[in-house]
Amino acid sequence: MIDTHAHIDSEQFDTDRQEMINRAFDAGVEAIIIPSIGPEGFDKIQAIVESDPRIYRGMGIHPHNANDASDVNLERVERESQNTRVVAIGEIGLDYYYDFAPKDMQRAVFREQLLIAKRQNLPVIIHNRESDEDVLSIIEEEQDGKLNFVLHCFSSSVEVLHRAISLGGHISFTGNITYKKSTLSDVILQTPIDKIMIETDSPYMAPVPYRGKRNEPSFVGMVSSKIAEIHNLTLDKVNSMTSQTSRAFFRIGLLLLIFTSTLVLSLQSSNAQTRESDRAADDGTDSEEIEEIPENPFPKKFGFGLMMGPNTVVESIQCSGGGKRESRSYEGFLAFGAAANYTVFDYLQLEANYLYSKNNKEVAKGALEPNIYHFINVSARFIANPRKPICFFATAGTSIVLSSIWVGETVKENKSTISGGIGLYGNINTSFGIISPMAELKLDFYLTSADRSNDFKCGTLTAPVPANVSTFYSIARLGVYWYPNF
Ligand SMILES: [Zn+2]
Ligand SMILES: [Zn+2]
Repeated sequence: MIDTHAHIDSEQFDTDRQEMINRAFDAGVEAIIIPSIGPEGFDKIQAIVESDPRIYRGMGIHPHNANDASDVNLERVERESQNTRVVAIGEIGLDYYYDFAPKDMQRAVFREQLLIAKRQNLPVIIHNRESDEDVLSIIEEEQDGKLNFVLHCFSSSVEVLHRAISLGGHISFTGNITYKKSTLSDVILQTPIDKIMIETDSPYMAPVPYRGKRNEPSFVGMVSSKIAEIHNLTLDKVNSMTSQTSRAFFRIGLLLLIFTSTLVLSLQSSNAQTRESDRAADDGTDSEEIEEIPENPFPKKFGFGLMMGPNTVVESIQCSGGGKRESRSYEGFLAFGAAANYTVFDYLQLEANYLYSKNNKEVAKGALEPNIYHFINVSARFIANPRKPICFFATAGTSIVLSSIWVGETVKENKSTISGGIGLYGNINTSFGIISPMAELKLDFYLTSADRSNDFKCGTLTAPVPANVSTFYSIARLGVYWYPNF
């Protein structure tokens, strides 16, 4: 979760700011963005963001303070927007509800800061209260393909939503969507999930059940759970989608990746480097940054699978008394079974599986009992591209094969193999977890062989003789795995 809009510099947090920040990170918040209101607060915010690498800021002048937007102060906004940790221009916009500054002045200051954002290649956090028409028409005029914006604390109509989306905008929701009388359900439902961000707008807008109290970033999950309910998605899904969107929008993916990879880097300098590379890059790099985000859109932990496929058994026979090695095979009889696996990290799964197969082919030739094979296998599965809807993998492992073989009588054999396979699987996100259909060609190469006494007619001999048998198995299997949400 990323709280994309929290005024944690507010004096309401002066007595317990660090505890409040700790509560947020303990609650699973990955990052907090503090928007600026006006010049008198700029330095205080900078001190807070420099205290923790997971806190970022916007730089800008709120419409309430449009009176303060002198040329000097606008120059300061532009200059300090180049500081490290500044990820947006904002919050800026229009507020015709409070009307603290004349409307034409608000419009001019808003437009001026949109120009700064475009020059500095930064996204914009937009405040809009009872000023839908003017906010949208100014964006329309300024949108030349370079403007990335989010309408924060979105509380407007579906029509405004559609216009904002068609202008390339993002939408951020806050605690007021949890209120009983909220009329925003339809708006939320019509907002594409990949355009949604979440925020608290702390210390205001506390979600139910804290409505009316001081709000803080640790409550941001209540906003996402309302969105999850309306979009009929899991909370995990909403949290990971909104985090991904926020990281791409504010370009904080690299920073978080560096932080979470526990590399002991000088955070200050790595931030500076990242900001610079972000700046050097233009719009086309957004997709690259999405690939570098640490979270997998298909998160897995435990998985359970069912599988089946044709088993081919090849026996390589060495008759006692010498002679040429001979082979015979039984092709395509059915094997089926089950598997459980554990995802160690995105690229590696450990799996245990069991397959059963029965070969009736010798029965057709007069044997009294079929050959039966039990495969007990443990494998490591290496995934080449775990974040894609279709993933390719290779497996390596070992099996114990317990078999009952009819050689005039039933003999039991225990053999060991090493196994290897290649395959692919799909990732389908559902409300009850990830469903993953898979196909794999798996080969088991014998490590141990078995001595059989009276099965074979070797060479020119007409009577059965003892022989040593090495067995090789090939199973092309199809399966489906289920990775429940935890
Ligand atoms: Zn606002
Ligand atoms: Zn705000």
